[in-house]
Amino acid sequence: MTILFRLLLFALIAVKVQAQPRLKATAETVLENLYQANGNKIYPKPAIEIVSDERHAAQFIRRSNTIRIGVKVFEVCRVFGKDSLAALAFIIGHELAHSFQLNTRQTSFLAYDQEDGADANAEKDADIQGLFNAWLAGYNTADLLPYIIEGVYVAYDLKGKTLSGYPTLEERKRTAKDLRLIVTELIRMYETGNYLTAIGQHDLAAACFQYVENRYKGREVYNNLGVNLVLQAMHLSEKNVDPYVFPLELDCNTRLKKPKADRGPGDLTPEQWQQRGELLAKAAGHFAHAAKMDYQYLTAEINYLCALVLNAKAGEAIEYCERRELVKKAGLLNAPAAGQEKIKLALGLAYAYSNRTEAIPLFDGLKNSTDAFVQYAATLNANVLAGRQAQLREAPPCQINFDTDAVVDDVKIHRPLTAAWTILDNAAQIEISTVLNKASELVVFRTGGQNRLSLQRMRRTGVAPVLSAATHLHALATNRGYIRVYPEKRAALLINEAQNQAVEWVKYYEFR
Ligand SMILES: [Zn+2]
Repeated sequence: MTILFRLLLFALIAVKVQAQPRLKATAETVLENLYQANGNKIYPKPAIEIVSDERHAAQFIRRSNTIRIGVKVFEVCRVFGKDSLAALAFIIGHELAHSFQLNTRQTSFLAYDQEDGADANAEKDADIQGLFNAWLAGYNTADLLPYIIEGVYVAYDLKGKTLSGYPTLEERKRTAKDLRLIVTELIRMYETGNYLTAIGQHDLAAACFQYVENRYKGREVYNNLGVNLVLQAMHLSEKNVDPYVFPLELDCNTRLKKPKADRGPGDLTPEQWQQRGELLAKAAGHFAHAAKMDYQYLTAEINYLCALVLNAKAGEAIEYCERRELVKKAGLLNAPAAGQEKIKLALGLAYAYSNRTEAIPLFDGLKNSTDAFVQYAATLNANVLAGRQAQLREAPPCQINFDTDAVVDDVKIHRPLTAAWTILDNAAQIEISTVLNKASELVVFRTGGQNRLSLQRMRRTGVAPVLSAATHLHALATNRGYIRVYPEKRAALLINEAQNQAVEWVKYYEFR
């Protein structure tokens, strides 16, 4: 080796070593976003190690709980320009998914260990998890997939080689197309579930989230699933059984306007009482699971308390709240004020249903909350508790400044043309049909062979709504923004709060 060559080599290594802390920091930020979006904290977050390994692009090492990423991977990702982090999110998300593959109770993965060589099913599942997780975290990764995979294979000179137990590039690219369809479907189902939650079609929404849960076990999926089961349970009858407002409710007005039941067992049929109990028990199971996944996930704790109270287990809810010191924990975790207040609201409901006077100071103390929902719910609940007339607050009138009756893609929402039907829930006979049009997507649901609901999503963006201050009171928070429903127009908007504008709008039609 000549001295010059040695110097050059030294300089190259020095550059690489110098760049590594920066690469590591970038990778750690992406990993943190993915880890938070997934929310399964039973498994500790892996460490990141940057290596100049010529053989492995990225690898999950179980015994040290480390994700190793090759320097070349960053070079591959850099080619994607503004999407470079989205590309990196896929690779890290894929390895993070491997870290969850140990316990089949928590995930759908096969028992699998990277150290013993890969297997194609585990790889495919890691791809699906990685892509969906990246999407939940706000990275737009799915469209890049084939290019990322090819980039990695080329950079590591794996092209055209047979790797023991590992798919070839050709196989991987073939499955990439497949994967994109699967993940796009998962995303569509998750988003449809959100719209259905906001519209108030809770059994259909639960079926959508159940579909997602079959492939992706995330904190939010369990919580959303539980919320819809509770709301379904609360809306089983034409009469209203629950006089109070619960923290997980979005629109309590429709329910509270129903004729009041006299709180006797005859208010619901025996079958309805049984179904209500089953739905609430199932929901409590999902909330408990989500809370176990993430110790800091207060929303799941609040919702767990609600499911218990509604299921005639108020005493158990109080005991749980005390044993877990939830009020104190919310403070220690420095949770947002509204989250801390909602724990008190749920505890207040548990006291109210147990006929204990502690409910009064709890509700009274929340009446001046700065959170619109908490203030409203506490005031209404205090009135109900005192036997006073409850004042319902109406949603501000519709403020859409564009024509929601305009026909898009020739779709007649009340007479939709459907494609093949897929069974979503066998027991409830829920089926779905999806039609992709030029500027919109149409999903139609039917139950027992009868059309139930059609929902058309427009891909047009830049619809600027006039927002009112009360938006948050009747809006559903999602990973992509707030959904605000306009029942009188049978339309909904997905609003990006930061940009203060609608990023998507939908129309829907409920068949009756
Ligand atoms: Zn893998």
